[in-house]
Amino acid sequence: SKVPPIILNNGVEMPQLGFGVWQVPDDEAERAVATALEAGYRSIDTAAFYGNEAGTGRAVAASGLPREDIFVTTKLDNGDQGYDATLRAFDASLAKLGLDYVDLYLIHWPLPARGTYIDSYKAFEKLYGDGRVRAIGVSNFLPEHLERLIAETSVIPAVNQIELHPHLQQHAAREYHAEQGIATEAWSPLGQGKGLLEVPAIVAIAQKHNRTPAQVVLRWHVQLGTVVIPKSVTPSRIRENIEVFDFSLDTEDLAAISALNEDRRLGPDPATHDPR
Ligand code: NAD
Repeated sequence: SKVPPIILNNGVEMPQLGFGVWQVPDDEAERAVATALEAGYRSIDTAAFYGNEAGTGRAVAASGLPREDIFVTTKLDNGDQGYDATLRAFDASLAKLGLDYVDLYLIHWPLPARGTYIDSYKAFEKLYGDGRVRAIGVSNFLPEHLERLIAETSVIPAVNQIELHPHLQQHAAREYHAEQGIATEAWSPLGQGKGLLEVPAIVAIAQKHNRTPAQVVLRWHVQLGTVVIPKSVTPSRIRENIEVFDFSLDTEDLAAISALNEDRRLGPDPATHDPR
Protein backbone atom coordinates (compact mmCIF):
# COMPACT_ATOMS: atom_id res chain seq x y z
CA SER A 1 0.00 0.00 0.00
CA LYS A 2 1.04 3.61 -0.45
CA VAL A 3 0.01 4.38 3.13
CA PRO A 4 2.23 3.29 6.02
CA PRO A 5 0.62 1.88 9.18
CA ILE A 6 0.46 3.24 12.69
CA ILE A 7 0.80 0.47 15.28
CA LEU A 8 -2.00 0.76 17.84
CA ASN A 9 -1.42 -0.03 21.53
CA ASN A 10 -2.70 -3.61 21.07
CA GLY A 11 -0.41 -4.29 18.11
CA VAL A 12 -3.09 -3.84 15.44
CA GLU A 13 -1.93 -1.90 12.36
CA MET A 14 -4.05 1.03 11.22
CA PRO A 15 -3.30 2.87 7.95
CA GLN A 16 -2.07 6.35 8.82
CA LEU A 17 -4.36 7.93 6.22
CA GLY A 18 -7.95 6.91 5.59
CA PHE A 19 -11.11 8.11 3.92
CA GLY A 20 -13.84 9.94 5.88
CA VAL A 21 -17.47 9.84 4.77
CA TRP A 22 -19.29 12.31 7.05
CA GLN A 23 -22.06 14.16 5.12
CA VAL A 24 -21.89 11.72 2.21
CA PRO A 25 -25.43 10.44 1.59
CA ASP A 26 -25.79 6.65 1.62
CA ASP A 27 -26.49 6.42 -2.11
CA GLU A 28 -23.30 8.39 -2.91
CA ALA A 29 -21.14 6.69 -0.31
CA GLU A 30 -20.79 3.50 -2.34
CA ARG A 31 -19.27 5.34 -5.31
CA ALA A 32 -17.09 7.60 -3.15
CA VAL A 33 -15.71 4.68 -1.12
CA ALA A 34 -15.19 2.67 -4.31
CA THR A 35 -13.18 5.57 -5.78
CA ALA A 36 -11.12 5.76 -2.58
CA LEU A 37 -10.39 2.03 -2.57
CA GLU A 38 -9.35 2.23 -6.24
CA ALA A 39 -7.06 5.16 -5.38
CA GLY A 40 -5.32 3.03 -2.75
CA TYR A 41 -7.07 3.96 0.49
CA ARG A 42 -7.39 0.97 2.80
CA SER A 43 -9.10 2.63 5.77
CA ILE A 44 -12.65 4.00 5.85
CA ASP A 45 -14.12 6.13 8.65
CA THR A 46 -17.90 5.96 8.96
CA ALA A 47 -20.37 6.19 11.86
CA ALA A 48 -23.90 5.06 12.63
CA PHE A 49 -24.80 8.78 12.79
CA TYR A 50 -23.63 9.35 9.19
CA GLY A 51 -26.37 7.09 7.83
CA ASN A 52 -24.00 5.60 5.25
CA GLU A 53 -22.78 2.35 6.78
CA ALA A 54 -24.78 0.42 4.18
CA GLY A 55 -23.28 2.25 1.20
CA THR A 56 -19.82 1.95 2.74
CA GLY A 57 -20.32 -1.78 3.23
CA ARG A 58 -21.52 -2.25 -0.35
CA ALA A 59 -18.34 -0.60 -1.65
CA VAL A 60 -16.15 -2.78 0.57
CA ALA A 61 -17.94 -5.91 -0.66
CA ALA A 62 -17.85 -4.85 -4.32
CA SER A 63 -14.14 -3.96 -4.22
CA GLY A 64 -13.10 -7.59 -4.38
CA LEU A 65 -10.35 -6.81 -1.86
CA PRO A 66 -9.76 -9.33 0.92
CA ARG A 67 -11.63 -8.19 4.04
CA GLU A 68 -8.41 -8.18 6.05
CA ASP A 69 -6.88 -5.63 3.68
CA ILE A 70 -9.46 -2.97 4.61
CA PHE A 71 -9.60 -1.20 7.98
CA VAL A 72 -13.18 -0.23 8.79
CA THR A 73 -14.02 2.20 11.59
CA THR A 74 -17.54 2.95 12.77
CA LYS A 75 -18.89 4.82 15.78
CA LEU A 76 -21.58 4.39 18.43
CA ASP A 77 -24.34 6.95 17.97
CA ASN A 78 -25.05 9.25 20.92
CA GLY A 79 -28.59 7.96 21.38
CA ASP A 80 -27.32 4.41 21.80
CA GLN A 81 -25.06 4.93 24.82
CA GLY A 82 -25.47 2.54 27.75
CA TYR A 83 -24.36 -1.11 28.08
CA ASP A 84 -27.27 -2.97 26.46
CA ALA A 85 -28.06 -0.26 23.92
CA THR A 86 -24.42 -0.29 22.81
CA LEU A 87 -24.46 -4.04 22.18
CA ARG A 88 -27.66 -3.70 20.14
CA ALA A 89 -26.29 -0.70 18.20
CA PHE A 90 -23.13 -2.62 17.35
CA ASP A 91 -25.18 -5.50 15.90
CA ALA A 92 -27.17 -3.00 13.83
CA SER A 93 -23.98 -1.34 12.52
CA LEU A 94 -22.44 -4.69 11.57
CA ALA A 95 -25.63 -5.68 9.76
CA LYS A 96 -25.69 -2.41 7.80
CA LEU A 97 -22.02 -2.75 6.94
CA GLY A 98 -22.55 -6.38 5.95
CA LEU A 99 -19.47 -7.36 7.95
CA ASP A 100 -18.82 -9.85 10.72
CA TYR A 101 -16.30 -7.62 12.54
CA VAL A 102 -15.11 -4.03 12.46
CA ASP A 103 -11.51 -2.97 12.87
CA LEU A 104 -12.17 -0.04 15.17
CA TYR A 105 -15.26 0.96 17.14
CA LEU A 106 -15.40 4.43 18.68
CA ILE A 107 -17.70 6.17 21.16
CA HIS A 108 -18.69 9.15 19.00
CA TRP A 109 -19.00 11.80 21.78
CA PRO A 110 -18.42 11.64 25.55
CA LEU A 111 -21.70 13.42 26.50
CA PRO A 112 -20.30 13.89 30.02
CA ALA A 113 -23.56 15.23 31.49
CA ARG A 114 -25.30 11.91 30.68
CA GLY A 115 -22.71 9.85 32.52
CA THR A 116 -23.09 6.85 30.20
CA TYR A 117 -19.70 6.60 28.50
CA ILE A 118 -18.27 4.21 31.10
CA ASP A 119 -21.12 1.69 30.65
CA SER A 120 -20.90 2.10 26.86
CA TYR A 121 -17.19 1.43 26.96
CA LYS A 122 -17.72 -1.68 29.14
CA ALA A 123 -19.90 -2.98 26.31
CA PHE A 124 -17.02 -2.16 23.93
CA GLU A 125 -14.73 -4.26 26.14
CA LYS A 126 -17.20 -7.14 25.85
CA LEU A 127 -17.24 -6.81 22.03
CA TYR A 128 -13.45 -6.66 22.02
CA GLY A 129 -13.20 -9.72 24.28
CA ASP A 130 -15.55 -11.58 21.96
CA GLY A 131 -13.34 -10.76 18.95
CA ARG A 132 -16.01 -8.74 17.15
CA VAL A 133 -13.83 -5.61 17.01
CA ARG A 134 -10.06 -5.56 16.54
CA ALA A 135 -9.61 -2.35 18.52
CA ILE A 136 -11.77 -0.04 20.63
CA GLY A 137 -11.48 3.66 21.24
CA VAL A 138 -13.23 6.97 21.61
CA SER A 139 -13.83 10.23 19.79
CA ASN A 140 -14.04 13.79 21.07
CA PHE A 141 -12.86 12.79 24.55
CA LEU A 142 -11.06 15.50 26.52
CA PRO A 143 -8.16 14.38 28.73
CA GLU A 144 -10.50 14.59 31.78
CA HIS A 145 -12.89 12.08 30.16
CA LEU A 146 -10.02 9.77 29.26
CA GLU A 147 -8.68 9.95 32.81
CA ARG A 148 -11.99 8.78 34.20
CA LEU A 149 -12.31 6.08 31.53
CA ILE A 150 -8.83 4.73 32.19
CA ALA A 151 -9.47 4.70 35.95
CA GLU A 152 -12.77 2.82 35.69
CA THR A 153 -12.25 0.36 32.82
CA SER A 154 -9.52 -2.09 31.84
CA VAL A 155 -8.67 -1.61 28.14
CA ILE A 156 -6.81 1.63 27.34
CA PRO A 157 -8.47 3.13 24.25
CA ALA A 158 -6.44 2.49 21.11
CA VAL A 159 -7.50 5.78 19.50
CA ASN A 160 -9.04 9.14 20.32
CA GLN A 161 -10.42 10.78 17.16
CA ILE A 162 -10.53 14.55 17.69
CA GLU A 163 -10.86 17.74 15.69
CA LEU A 164 -7.30 18.63 14.65
CA HIS A 165 -5.94 20.90 11.92
CA PRO A 166 -3.47 23.81 11.69
CA HIS A 167 -5.94 26.23 13.33
CA LEU A 168 -6.56 23.79 16.21
CA GLN A 169 -3.32 21.94 16.88
CA GLN A 170 -4.39 20.23 20.14
CA HIS A 171 -0.96 20.24 21.83
CA ALA A 172 -2.24 19.29 25.31
CA ALA A 173 -4.46 16.47 24.06
CA ARG A 174 -1.75 15.02 21.81
CA GLU A 175 0.74 15.07 24.65
CA TYR A 176 -1.71 13.34 27.00
CA HIS A 177 -2.52 10.69 24.38
CA ALA A 178 1.18 10.01 23.80
CA GLU A 179 1.76 9.55 27.55
CA GLN A 180 -1.11 7.03 27.69
CA GLY A 181 -0.26 5.16 24.47
CA ILE A 182 -3.43 6.36 22.71
CA ALA A 183 -3.14 7.13 18.99
CA THR A 184 -4.44 10.56 17.97
CA GLU A 185 -6.68 10.58 14.90
CA ALA A 186 -7.50 13.92 13.25
CA TRP A 187 -11.04 14.74 12.11
CA SER A 188 -11.70 17.68 9.81
CA PRO A 189 -7.97 17.53 9.01
CA LEU A 190 -8.42 20.03 6.17
CA GLY A 191 -10.45 22.39 8.34
CA GLN A 192 -13.50 21.28 6.31
CA GLY A 193 -11.97 23.05 3.32
CA LYS A 194 -13.19 26.36 4.77
CA GLY A 195 -10.46 28.96 4.41
CA LEU A 196 -7.54 26.92 5.69
CA LEU A 197 -6.54 25.90 2.16
CA GLU A 198 -6.31 29.58 1.15
CA VAL A 199 -4.10 30.69 4.04
CA PRO A 200 -1.07 32.43 2.39
CA ALA A 201 1.51 30.47 4.41
CA ILE A 202 -0.04 27.15 3.27
CA VAL A 203 -0.33 28.32 -0.34
CA ALA A 204 3.33 29.43 -0.32
CA ILE A 205 4.52 26.05 1.01
CA ALA A 206 2.41 24.29 -1.62
CA GLN A 207 4.00 26.36 -4.41
CA LYS A 208 7.48 25.67 -3.04
CA HIS A 209 6.91 21.88 -3.20
CA ASN A 210 4.78 21.95 -6.34
CA ARG A 211 1.89 20.39 -4.38
CA THR A 212 -1.63 21.48 -3.49
CA PRO A 213 -2.56 23.20 -0.20
CA ALA A 214 -4.58 20.11 0.79
CA GLN A 215 -1.51 17.91 0.28
CA VAL A 216 0.60 20.25 2.39
CA VAL A 217 -1.89 20.15 5.26
CA LEU A 218 -2.23 16.36 5.06
CA ARG A 219 1.55 15.97 4.95
CA TRP A 220 1.76 18.14 8.09
CA HIS A 221 -0.57 15.67 9.84
CA VAL A 222 1.51 12.73 8.64
CA GLN A 223 4.68 14.31 10.01
CA LEU A 224 2.94 14.94 13.37
CA GLY A 225 2.51 11.16 13.50
CA THR A 226 -1.29 11.26 13.80
CA VAL A 227 -3.85 9.27 11.84
CA VAL A 228 -5.70 11.42 9.32
CA ILE A 229 -9.03 10.89 7.48
CA PRO A 230 -9.70 13.55 4.84
CA LYS A 231 -13.08 13.56 3.12
CA SER A 232 -13.98 14.41 -0.47
CA VAL A 233 -16.57 13.17 -2.95
CA THR A 234 -14.61 14.57 -5.92
CA PRO A 235 -12.59 11.77 -7.56
CA SER A 236 -9.59 13.98 -8.43
CA ARG A 237 -9.41 15.26 -4.85
CA ILE A 238 -9.86 11.77 -3.40
CA ARG A 239 -6.79 10.74 -5.43
CA GLU A 240 -4.86 13.92 -4.62
CA ASN A 241 -5.38 13.53 -0.88
CA ILE A 242 -3.57 10.18 -0.66
CA GLU A 243 -0.50 11.34 -2.63
CA VAL A 244 1.32 12.67 0.42
CA PHE A 245 3.92 9.99 1.06
CA ASP A 246 6.44 11.02 -1.59
CA PHE A 247 7.52 14.44 -0.30
CA SER A 248 8.43 16.03 3.04
CA LEU A 249 7.93 19.36 4.72
CA ASP A 250 11.15 20.88 6.07
CA THR A 251 11.63 22.48 9.48
CA GLU A 252 10.90 25.92 8.05
CA ASP A 253 7.57 24.71 6.59
CA LEU A 254 6.66 23.00 9.87
CA ALA A 255 7.44 26.16 11.84
CA ALA A 256 5.27 28.26 9.50
CA ILE A 257 2.35 25.86 9.98
CA SER A 258 2.89 25.71 13.77
CA ALA A 259 2.47 29.48 13.82
CA LEU A 260 -1.08 29.14 12.41
CA ASN A 261 -2.50 27.66 15.62
CA GLU A 262 -5.47 29.66 16.92
CA ASP A 263 -6.98 27.00 19.23
CA ARG A 264 -10.14 27.57 17.20
CA ARG A 265 -12.75 24.80 16.87
CA LEU A 266 -15.00 24.40 13.82
CA GLY A 267 -17.08 21.77 15.58
CA PRO A 268 -18.74 21.59 19.00
CA ASP A 269 -17.00 21.71 22.37
CA PRO A 270 -16.88 18.12 23.71
CA ALA A 271 -17.38 19.36 27.30
CA THR A 272 -20.89 20.58 26.50
CA HIS A 273 -21.96 18.95 23.19
CA ASP A 274 -25.08 16.91 23.98
CA PRO A 275 -27.55 16.83 21.06
CA ARG A 276 -30.97 15.37 21.83
P1 NAD B 1 -12.17 17.70 5.99
O1 NAD B 1 -11.31 18.57 6.82
O2 NAD B 1 -11.69 16.37 5.56
O3 NAD B 1 -12.63 18.59 4.76
C1 NAD B 1 -13.44 18.05 3.75
C2 NAD B 1 -13.79 19.17 2.77
O4 NAD B 1 -12.60 19.82 2.32
C3 NAD B 1 -14.46 18.62 1.52
O5 NAD B 1 -15.86 18.52 1.71
C4 NAD B 1 -14.07 19.65 0.48
O6 NAD B 1 -14.92 20.77 0.57
C5 NAD B 1 -12.68 20.05 0.92
N1 NAD B 1 -11.60 19.29 0.25
C6 NAD B 1 -11.29 17.98 0.42
N2 NAD B 1 -10.21 17.67 -0.32
C7 NAD B 1 -9.84 18.78 -0.97
C8 NAD B 1 -8.79 19.09 -1.87
N3 NAD B 1 -7.93 18.16 -2.25
N4 NAD B 1 -8.72 20.35 -2.35
C9 NAD B 1 -9.60 21.29 -1.96
N5 NAD B 1 -10.59 21.09 -1.09
C10 NAD B 1 -10.72 19.83 -0.60
O7 NAD B 1 -13.58 17.62 6.79
P2 NAD B 1 -14.53 16.56 7.43
O8 NAD B 1 -15.30 15.81 6.43
O9 NAD B 1 -15.26 17.32 8.47
O10 NAD B 1 -13.57 15.56 8.22
C11 NAD B 1 -13.06 14.38 7.64
C12 NAD B 1 -13.66 13.16 8.29
O11 NAD B 1 -13.48 13.19 9.70
C13 NAD B 1 -15.18 13.06 8.14
O12 NAD B 1 -15.58 12.67 6.86
C14 NAD B 1 -15.49 12.05 9.20
O13 NAD B 1 -15.16 10.75 8.75
C15 NAD B 1 -14.56 12.50 10.31
N6 NAD B 1 -15.23 13.39 11.29
C16 NAD B 1 -15.46 12.91 12.54
C17 NAD B 1 -16.09 13.69 13.48
C18 NAD B 1 -16.30 13.17 14.86
O14 NAD B 1 -17.03 13.77 15.64
N7 NAD B 1 -15.68 12.06 15.22
C19 NAD B 1 -16.52 14.99 13.17
C20 NAD B 1 -16.26 15.47 11.87
C21 NAD B 1 -15.62 14.67 10.97
